[in-house]
Amino acid sequence: MNILVLNSGSSSIKYNLWEMNEKKLLCKGLVEKIGMDDSSVTFSVNDKKKTIQKVITDYNEGIELILDIITDKEDGVLKNIKEIDAVGHRIVHGGEKIIQSELVTPEIKKIIDECALLAPLHNPHNLEGIVEIEKVLPGVPNVAVFDTAFHSTMPPESFIYPLPYEFYEKHKIRRYGFHGTSHKYVSLRGAELLKIWHNKFNCITCHFGNGASIAAIKNGISVDTTMGFTPLAGLPMGTRTGNIDPSIILYMIQELGYTPEEVSDIINKKSGFLGISGISSDMREIREAATKGDEKAILTLKIFSHSAKRSITAMTPELDGRLDAIIFTGGIGENSPITREMICQGLSIIGAYLDVDKNNSLRGEGIISKDDSPVKIMLIPTNEELMIALETQKLVGESVYKFNCTDK
Ligand code: ADP
Repeated sequence: MNILVLNSGSSSIKYNLWEMNEKKLLCKGLVEKIGMDDSSVTFSVNDKKKTIQKVITDYNEGIELILDIITDKEDGVLKNIKEIDAVGHRIVHGGEKIIQSELVTPEIKKIIDECALLAPLHNPHNLEGIVEIEKVLPGVPNVAVFDTAFHSTMPPESFIYPLPYEFYEKHKIRRYGFHGTSHKYVSLRGAELLKIWHNKFNCITCHFGNGASIAAIKNGISVDTTMGFTPLAGLPMGTRTGNIDPSIILYMIQELGYTPEEVSDIINKKSGFLGISGISSDMREIREAATKGDEKAILTLKIFSHSAKRSITAMTPELDGRLDAIIFTGGIGENSPITREMICQGLSIIGAYLDVDKNNSLRGEGIISKDDSPVKIMLIPTNEELMIALETQKLVGESVYKFNCTDK
């Protein structure tokens, strides 16, 4: 079975094509800067990588180009697009009604559209990806895999904000949580590696990329997470503030004279690592500057690790006294040993002891805590695309790959 996975963003479409019997990635690519003069597509098959500069005016052209590349005589991996059995789509927001991945129907499309109010930068484009692929692959099932769905199991004490209750009831203002597909994947993989049934597995998953979130997972389901009503909440990120005192926003508007649009721009695009360091939103550049003694870069690393530590320790009581593992993933979580080390300093209080040598030397997935650490610390590269392909496979009713930690 071949499954195409699409992640349709504001001006880009990322794709992966998976052969599910062997769980093998056949090819992947990225169409970028759709609608701009310098649009391009970069794709790779095995180790061969190619970039083609080409004006791609809209999503329809982008999708057609992807299908052409997949079936190209020289660079393609399929003879005909009819060999694509199903398409899985990453959808950022599913609101309250969505608690799992869903086969795309008119009703599901309506929900994705309605949730555009909550994720205006993502949902409209996610939906466009579905609409366009339906035109070129009629009859092929589409599956929507939602970032919010994995967190739908959070109890009310985790997701209700202490605002007047009507804001939740009338306006659906609540914590939703994001990065769910990644938190789910690394928790499954963590349980599998530790040989613990996933529905008995308690862990804290740390997804640190340009956006960053931490989730508490009890018996395999999400019970809390740091992101909230939007992906702005929680930890400081590349350009986002994460949690700040909400009165600061009012102060900036009422006393300092900023417009709401200006404040939105500051807290979403000019804050976080970039704002503190004045150097970059990219952790590699911060780390390099910190190594050279740059004080603001060092402060940025300290603020991030302080915030991560605080969230990790604050979540442990929700796990009923047993934490099996802390799992790091995402561009920073996977590639920055110094960040992991700074976060783990002090976590011995919850029984997590980092092995500094393993932390510095491990590439790929595995355990980086000391052998006798009661709480395992793990490094697991995320694979959201594979998770989307697996969810898609499950919903189109084919025989399903099971992680070795699921007993169903
Ligand atoms: P996204 O959230 O956009 O998917 P990624 O998961 O790719 O982002 O993470 C991007 C972040 O990962 C950036 O801050 C980048 O600096 C960081 N990163 C990637 N590689 C490394 C590395 N080798 N060392 C430190 N940080 C890294």
